[in-house]
Amino acid sequence: MSTTSVAPSIEQVAAEAGVTLVRTVAEVRAWVAERRRDGFRIGLVPTMGYLHAGHLSLVERARESGADFVAMSIFVNPLQFGPSEDLDRYPRNLPRDLERAAEAGTALVFAPPVGEMYPRGEPRVTIVPDEEIGGRMDGGSRPGHFRGVLTVVAKLFGIFTPDVAVFGQKDWQQATLIRRMVADLDLPVQVDVAPIVREEDGLAMSSRNVYLSKEERASALALSRSLERTRELYEAGERDAAVLRAALWNGMAVPGVEPEYAEVADADTLAPVEWAARGTLLAVAARVGRTRLIDNALLPGLSRD
Ligand code: AMP
Repeated sequence: MSTTSVAPSIEQVAAEAGVTLVRTVAEVRAWVAERRRDGFRIGLVPTMGYLHAGHLSLVERARESGADFVAMSIFVNPLQFGPSEDLDRYPRNLPRDLERAAEAGTALVFAPPVGEMYPRGEPRVTIVPDEEIGGRMDGGSRPGHFRGVLTVVAKLFGIFTPDVAVFGQKDWQQATLIRRMVADLDLPVQVDVAPIVREEDGLAMSSRNVYLSKEERASALALSRSLERTRELYEAGERDAAVLRAALWNGMAVPGVEPEYAEVADADTLAPVEWAARGTLLAVAARVGRTRLIDNALLPGLSRD
């Protein structure tokens, strides 16, 4: 007698791992309402998936911030990618993400299809930061990127109505814009920003690191090393932002790395400063082969807390 084995559905994979997987806004709303009725606090960790320890640290942080249930969204948001960017080749692995999310204590994963998030196609009403705060650094290199990010985060806040949402310092400008959106629009959510999780040699963890060849992976260290060396300059007494900016840039200008920006800026307004002080932001972006990487640090250390 022959037996046919049927591959488990992705929902079964999730259930086995110990996390609930939902695909629709209606399911999220029902899940949240049930827990709210019982007085529980909801935490939200928005991601694009291909999870690493940096993402998982945000789940932990949400719990530390008082969330009884932590939900994670996994959605590669087309609205935040430019026409020549890596939307199509962005790495995806939902079964593995479900395992990792579950291990970190995530209760619910919301992984909607694009049509669930944008059922009317291109949204006609979006959230756009002004040029002062949203047009420099990554906003300068990636026009329209933060419009896409803020719009999808505002939608996720509307869908989950979370008590707390956690973002990573890795994307400092993004976290700053989200905090500013919440303040300017009086959105009822606490926004936490968690420190950058790094590989042992200092490279900031990123889903995009998977694009790097062995040689590129070695070159990519130029970003964190340059931040580290510039921080040392500051600690040795250098306060002139122009000198620090040049050091940041030159530290990245090594074979195989094409620096895109090196900023010494106010951490809240993102405006360039003349003099560095405690809490000043050092931020860099560079291309390593075809891969665009970013990293940052707050003076005097690699993390604000
Ligand atoms: P992404 O999936 O790249 O959109 O990132 C989802 C969230 O994880 C964002 O809030 C990121 O800032 C955060 N994140 C990404 N990489 C790291 C990291 N190495 N350490 C801490 N948080 C991170």
